[in-house]
Amino acid sequence: MIIDGHTHILPSNFSLEQKKLGKDSTFEELFTNSKSKTITGQKLIQSMDNNNIRKSIILGYGWNNIEVAKISNNYNLNQYKLFPNKLIPFCSINPHWGNKAIKELERCLRKGARGIGELHPTNQFLNLNDKKVLDPMMKLACSEKIPITIHGSEPVGHKYPGKGESGPKKLFNFIEMYPDNIIILAHWGGGLLFYELMKEVKKVSENVYYDTATTSFLYDSKIFKIACELVGSKKIIFGTDYPLLTAKRILNEMKELNQEDIKNITYKNIKSIFNINYENE
Ligand SMILES: [Zn+2]
Repeated sequence: MIIDGHTHILPSNFSLEQKKLGKDSTFEELFTNSKSKTITGQKLIQSMDNNNIRKSIILGYGWNNIEVAKISNNYNLNQYKLFPNKLIPFCSINPHWGNKAIKELERCLRKGARGIGELHPTNQFLNLNDKKVLDPMMKLACSEKIPITIHGSEPVGHKYPGKGESGPKKLFNFIEMYPDNIIILAHWGGGLLFYELMKEVKKVSENVYYDTATTSFLYDSKIFKIACELVGSKKIIFGTDYPLLTAKRILNEMKELNQEDIKNITYKNIKSIFNINYENE
C-alpha cells in the first residue's frame, strides 16, 4: 500500500475565480510567473490509479485571501465526498484572520477535513514565534488531534517559486512552542532533521514528522538512508508534492531501503496518525 502525504489539487477555473475575488498573493507567486501547474481531483485520482497509490492527502496552499481559501477548501472537501476512500482532505487557513480563521477551520472539520495545511509562513506573513496569533489554531488542532503540514525550506541553495524563508531555526522555535501538536514538516523541514543529532532538538520533536515532498529537486537520494538512520523511518512520511513531482521518481530513489522502513514511510506512519486500522482500506 502507498499513501501520498503531500499533494495539491485545485478546481480548473481557480485562476479566474481568485482574480474575481481580488487575487491571492500566494497563488500569484506560485502560478502566474512560473511553469508550475495545477491539477484537478479527477487528474490526481487517475495518477494515483496508474501508480498504485491507495490514498492521498490533498492540501491547500498558504492562502492570504480568505474567500480564495474557501474555494480551495471547499474543493478539497467536495472531492473527498466523491472519493472518500482515496482522499484525505486538509484545509488551509491563515491564523492572521483571527476568529474568522478558527471559524473556517471548524467549518472544514465538520465537513470532514482531517488536518491543516499546507501553511506557508513566508507567504502568509506568519512569524513562527508569535504565540498570540498561532495559539488559537494550535490549541484547536491539538484538542482535535489533527496534524498541521507546514512548509519548510533550506537556508542555503537555489531559489525556486514558493521557497520562502521557513528554515530550521524558525521551524525549531515553532515545534518547541507546540510539542504536543502533531506537526508534519514538509520538504524535510528545510533540513531540521539533521539537527535531530542535537539532544534538545530530538527532545521536542517527538510529535514531528518529516515529509519527502520534492526530494528529487532538493537532495541526493542518499537522504533516505541517512534520514532513516538519523530520525528513524517512523518519523518520515512519503509525499510527492504532486503535480510538481511524480510518485515514481521518489519511490525509485527509496528502493534501497529495507522493507520495514519503506512500509513505515509509504503508509504505516500516516495510518497511525489517522487511526486507519482496517487492512483492506
Ligand atoms: Zn511546500
